[in-house]
Amino acid sequence: MEEYVKEIEGIWANKWLTNMGPKHLELEEKLKEYLDVENISLFVNGHAALENAIAAFDFERGSEVITTPFTFPSTTHAIVRNNLVPVFCDIKKDDYTIDESKIEPLITDKTCAIIPVHVYGNICNVEEIERIAKKHNLKVIYDSAHAFGERYKGVGVGQFGDASMFSFHATKVFNTIEGGCITTKDAGLIKRLSMLKNFGIEGPETIDYIGGNAKMNEFSAAMGICNLRHVEDNIRERKAITERYIERLGHIKGIHFNKTRDDQTYNYAYMPVLFDPAESGTTRDRVFERLQEENIGSRKYFYPLVSDYGCYKNDYDSKDTPVAKYVSDNILTIPIYPGLSIADVDDICDVIEEEIKHANR
Ligand SMILES: *Cc1c(COP(=O)(O)O)cnc(C)c1O
Repeated sequence: MEEYVKEIEGIWANKWLTNMGPKHLELEEKLKEYLDVENISLFVNGHAALENAIAAFDFERGSEVITTPFTFPSTTHAIVRNNLVPVFCDIKKDDYTIDESKIEPLITDKTCAIIPVHVYGNICNVEEIERIAKKHNLKVIYDSAHAFGERYKGVGVGQFGDASMFSFHATKVFNTIEGGCITTKDAGLIKRLSMLKNFGIEGPETIDYIGGNAKMNEFSAAMGICNLRHVEDNIRERKAITERYIERLGHIKGIHFNKTRDDQTYNYAYMPVLFDPAESGTTRDRVFERLQEENIGSRKYFYPLVSDYGCYKNDYDSKDTPVAKYVSDNILTIPIYPGLSIADVDDICDVIEEEIKHANR
């Protein structure tokens, strides 16, 4: 808090509260360096960033976008709210990202883009997705909401595809209270985004775009400047927690962690644990309830599958993406945050261990 108060004193001094002020510019520069990207555009939140990025490509109304149903509602809603049609591709069983081998059969003459998700910070097969996109002349926009700060083969993950969206929501690895950004190699896209997020205003008397309002304010930018100083320490803490969970739970039959890749750095944003019902003898829902009884918060993240939401279930069948369905039905994200003690991690593991022992008695 002390750090934050110091950071916002300047805002009172210069009376610049929003509209790309000095804090906004400072955060942009710092994030470009931290994320290892050429261009960045900051937004009021990650969803607005994604919605505006899709809008910036001006796809023909009714075009199809290949994406996955194992994600937060934001990804799919951003497509639909742009008058485009989501086409759900299944995910891989080992890292829950889009199954690149199933993309091409879904491509039609209406397909305009692929919007994959780096779920839990697991980086998609970016090379193969790029090859497919080039071959079929499609745009690729990554939902990188979970992948803040990660590198793949030494390169900032925000460099892949035509654009990437990061979320700076309070619950993410790095936050600006609410916030988000688009990163891209395309400087022209950044210019279009700067108009789309500010009512289409190009100059004092030039408004040639139909834009909304999705700018980041100075107070959020100041929060980001403070939090960026601590993000490396926070990730180190998250790593230690993850390692303890794996040490404690890794040997238990029926418990699976997602596969990790050697050629990427992780931010340890989430601690997803999959409980296979046949092998573990218990269910994800039962573990969720047991943890709840002990006052331990966990989340069925992501359940239900997007294609099973009330607003989509009439148009889709989740049986068409069986791996996504299986993972969604059996996965639980358990507590991980800076400040969570290893003693508390052990207590959480005790509850899970006991539930599985009890189920197999
Ligand atoms: C958090 C999140 C978003 C939305 O970001 P906000 O900053 O909350 O608007 C989009 N996609 C995924 C996968 C997310 O986890």
